[in-house]
Amino acid sequence: MQSIGHWIDGKAVGGTSEATAPVTDPATGAVTGEVALANVADTRAAIDAATVAFATWRDASLTRRTQVLFRFRELLSERRTELAAVITAEHGKVAADALGEVTRGLEVVEFACGVPHLLKGGFTENASTDVDIYSIRQPLGPVAIITPFNFPAMVAMWFFPLAIGAGNTVVLKPSEKDPSAALWLARLWQEAGLPDGVFNVVQGDKVAVDELLDNPDVKAVSFVGSTPIAKYVYQRGTAAGKRVQALGGAKNHMVVLPDADLDLAADAAVNAGFGSAGERCMAISVVVAVGAVADDLVARISARAASIVTGDGATPGAEMGPLITRAHRDRVAEYIDAGETAGARVVLDGRTLTVDGAPNGFWLGPTILDEVTPTMSVYTDEIFGPVLSVVRVDTYAEAVALINANRYGNGTAIFTNDGGAGRRFQHEVEVGMVGINVAIPVPMAYFSFGGWKNSLFGDSHAHGTDGVHFFTRTKAVTTRWLDPSHGGVELGFPQNT
Ligand code: NAD
Repeated sequence: MQSIGHWIDGKAVGGTSEATAPVTDPATGAVTGEVALANVADTRAAIDAATVAFATWRDASLTRRTQVLFRFRELLSERRTELAAVITAEHGKVAADALGEVTRGLEVVEFACGVPHLLKGGFTENASTDVDIYSIRQPLGPVAIITPFNFPAMVAMWFFPLAIGAGNTVVLKPSEKDPSAALWLARLWQEAGLPDGVFNVVQGDKVAVDELLDNPDVKAVSFVGSTPIAKYVYQRGTAAGKRVQALGGAKNHMVVLPDADLDLAADAAVNAGFGSAGERCMAISVVVAVGAVADDLVARISARAASIVTGDGATPGAEMGPLITRAHRDRVAEYIDAGETAGARVVLDGRTLTVDGAPNGFWLGPTILDEVTPTMSVYTDEIFGPVLSVVRVDTYAEAVALINANRYGNGTAIFTNDGGAGRRFQHEVEVGMVGINVAIPVPMAYFSFGGWKNSLFGDSHAHGTDGVHFFTRTKAVTTRWLDPSHGGVELGFPQNT
């Protein structure tokens, strides 16, 4: 049983709070650790360290900053399996999936290695006679990053490489359910040569989050989590005058048109629906079967899903791991009960799944509900588990209307061989990330990641140019090198000549 604390000013510290939360291995149900839950003083200690470090890190040359980023990239690349094992032990996702998470985070580190280019401003010569204007991007100060349990490494890496590359300092508040990946990353930063205090980790819950939102020394907040908390973070953070981007929950639909290749569509639905036990914000949770494809499509999806091997993520051969906690596992099972009671047809039932040798793991097998309607709770709510709902509609127009009426707008996909239909879909659908024959359309690091509607509060998406802009503020400088011809008193508003 390990004690999991904070990382402040380059040191592991236990903090002054008595409060703790248990950390479990979801595959066994065993409590493996106890994480400290920061009080206000602990959180302030991390903010203070970031504030002191900002004074020098903001002035570190771009050469110096990128040297540290390149070194961090090298170390992370070499040791990615080590981090993946840390993730599996507390989150439960299978080893290959955890490795995929680290690799997608690494992409953002690689993007941030080009930060000198990304920070370049503009220059206009002779905007007015003898007057030049240029713009520069400067860091904000200490920034907070608050992350969910489902990607304990990748989501933090959506933000901190660019934040640090741009000259900010960071306080990361990971999920209390899987807190160790953040500490692993903190040690790696130190090894890469990042000065102490530039990257800090404070473990905790609402108490720590509220201090990060209210403390005037924190200049910006990047949050990822469920919609109610995202909205709360956005409102409280902006009320305190901060820049906030708060990414929320999702209900991602995959439309299958009658002309689609049903085998490829079924493969994609299973991978996107049950990968990481459905605990991904880009998981497909609703398949929208258009026209006559439904029976055939459901049969192909269920045949594939029935053969998924569920087990301990650290065991070779396991394809899907457990859910994060027993309470969450039970909540997902209750949604399946409610769907069945409301009239959905349970085509594949994961509620009774057991795993040999692990009677106390938080198991729930792949589940498929057919004939789901938009009023059922299994449709309206984000379930965040291995449950695929199938909604049957007659036309493409009905499919798009269904998606556009949904309160979430994170990701969506259409499967078709009709290029015109794909193009029309990308134009008409009210969702931030769209896949055409791609079920999980997570953009690469040089594009930005983010949803619409209740899936994101704020103006900036994560990484890409949005990320660079979020973590910097611009200055426009107007210059003139004086000579006698510029003299004379003139009180009118300056005009260009
Ligand atoms: P969560 O909202 O419960 O927790 C997210 C963070 O907020 C954690 O660090 C947690 O400690 C903190 N928190 C929880 N309750 C709080 C409160 N009352 N006040 C202040 N802070 C609080 O989310 P989760 O269960 O960890 O993660 C799953 C959710 O995250 C899902 O809804 C999923 O869709 C969403 N998610 C979204 C994206 C995206 O890009 N849009 C990505 C990953 C996960």
